[in-house]
Amino acid sequence: MRFRPELDPLRPYRPPHLAKELEADRGPAGYVKLTMNELSFGPLPGAEAAVRESLARANRYPEREAAALREAVAAANPGSSTANVIIGNGSSEVLSNLLAILERPGEIVYPWPSFSLYPAIARILGLESRPVELTAEKAVDPEALLAAVTERTRAVVLCNPNNPTGTCLPLAAVRELAASLPEEVLLVLDEAYYEFVSDPAYAGSHELALSTPNVVSARTFSKVHGLAALRVGYGIAPEPVADYFERVRFPFSVNAPAQAAATASMREGDLIRKRARFVIEERERLQSAFAAAGYDYVPSQGNFILAKIPADLFERGGVLVREGEALGFPGWSRITVGDSGENDRVIEAISAR
Ligand SMILES: *Cc1c(COP(=O)(O)O)cnc(C)c1O
Repeated sequence: MRFRPELDPLRPYRPPHLAKELEADRGPAGYVKLTMNELSFGPLPGAEAAVRESLARANRYPEREAAALREAVAAANPGSSTANVIIGNGSSEVLSNLLAILERPGEIVYPWPSFSLYPAIARILGLESRPVELTAEKAVDPEALLAAVTERTRAVVLCNPNNPTGTCLPLAAVRELAASLPEEVLLVLDEAYYEFVSDPAYAGSHELALSTPNVVSARTFSKVHGLAALRVGYGIAPEPVADYFERVRFPFSVNAPAQAAATASMREGDLIRKRARFVIEERERLQSAFAAAGYDYVPSQGNFILAKIPADLFERGGVLVREGEALGFPGWSRITVGDSGENDRVIEAISAR
């Protein structure tokens, strides 16, 4: 068999500590799992009810257009219509399909360290990768991104807020970047964490996506909506981009229970914002505790914090966090903001030295 040699360096996504994470998933086991930026709460009651209700029709294929979901997303993003809404099996698939529609050969430019999926998707799709170093403050450098763009660049992928650093670029800077990019280059704004941002200079980019032919915002139901297991993502895109996107999307990539849950959850904007506020308050509490204990951390705008604390220290306290080494920050850890009890355990772990 002749495999594509460029796939040789790829490895399946397999986080360290998997056995312990599974143990933590199983319930009241010893470990608290704060490794994957999941929400520590289940779906909203309305979303759970919608899933249950949808199961009776599991013999039927899901609704091809996911019309109700698109309408709920459009309603939550004023100015957009369902023709601007793109959907996928997680925002991972949304990102992948966005890169799948771009001309080959080509490359993508993205800040680094960032989400490990970007170079992986690029490789799978036959695009080259051009990572651009973050600043000394671990923030995205829009000018360096622009400087890295070449004739071969098909997209700039910007994780905003950035995972794993939690830094974000204000809307004015995103707008400037969009205005400076050549029109043939797609600016993909991965806003998986946008609901958790408290910085008033930040705003989601959906309006920019509606007014600029080469800007798309990608979002997810996996984080603040607490629906990671169901795999639903979406985006707001200019119509021509959405049109090409739909050409490459697998017909039923978002399953029926997932459509039902995401639609119900999106209609509960107030409850979702309340959850986000809780996470923001708990993020502040954790950051204050890190500071009080004398640890360096990057002030975060996501539901996670990158701190200069070794993962072992947390593990000794029964808390699993993502080791910074795999994220490009050896000696650091990325700690997901959990529920009150879990965050208490985090604080106990760093206090018990
Ligand atoms: C968690 C995360 C996502 C969400 O991925 P899904 O496929 O929607 O679960 C997307 N982008 C970034 C940067 C993330 O951290």
